[in-house]
Amino acid sequence: MQPQTRQIATAFERLALFWRASQWLAAKDHGLNPSQGDVLQRISRQPARSTDLAQHLGVTRASLSDTVSALVAKGLAERRPDPEDARARRVVATGEGRALAAFLPEAPEALEAAIAGLRDTDRGALLRSLSLIIRSLQEAGAIPVQQMCLTCRHFRPHVHADPARPHHCGFVDAAFGDGGLRLDCADHETTTDEAAARNRARMAAVG
Ligand code: SF4
Repeated sequence: MQPQTRQIATAFERLALFWRASQWLAAKDHGLNPSQGDVLQRISRQPARSTDLAQHLGVTRASLSDTVSALVAKGLAERRPDPEDARARRVVATGEGRALAAFLPEAPEALEAAIAGLRDTDRGALLRSLSLIIRSLQEAGAIPVQQMCLTCRHFRPHVHADPARPHHCGFVDAAFGDGGLRLDCADHETTTDEAAARNRARMAAVG
């Protein structure tokens, strides 16, 4: 491995260890494990199908089912019929589940503070690099596809002359910069593999 790649990989490893330990402690304080805390946070924002939750977490449906069953047993979630698909079920947070989710941090506070301390341009550059790395891993089949700009049919990278806001989101019909790139967008609509590959290549080559 190249020395610089090794240093970056080490940074990811340290951040992952810190993240896991912090979220484990936060969830444990509320009688949950990290997977249960993650699912509860997600369904508190929006009910979701089990298949979508499993894909988001990168776990098998059987593993996800165990997590949901544990939340149901604690009175924090319910399985309800999916109004859009008679064969599917949605996982919904109960009132008690939503109340508990409000106490779970989306990210370790110390990490949030460290990111907030960066300059805007550094945060944008970081988001751009992370988006490209995540998309490469998705293309390699190593991690599930996320609702990110690079795979969205509304995304048009580097189409504006303004270097601060070179990208365009067709959904809101507005220009935006690297700092506005999304990795978990509710308005995302999946584009073709070919278009996503073009987006990644353009983002990697320009800017
Ligand atoms: S809809 Fe969301 S994911 Fe798609 S381009 Fe706009 S901001 Fe990005």
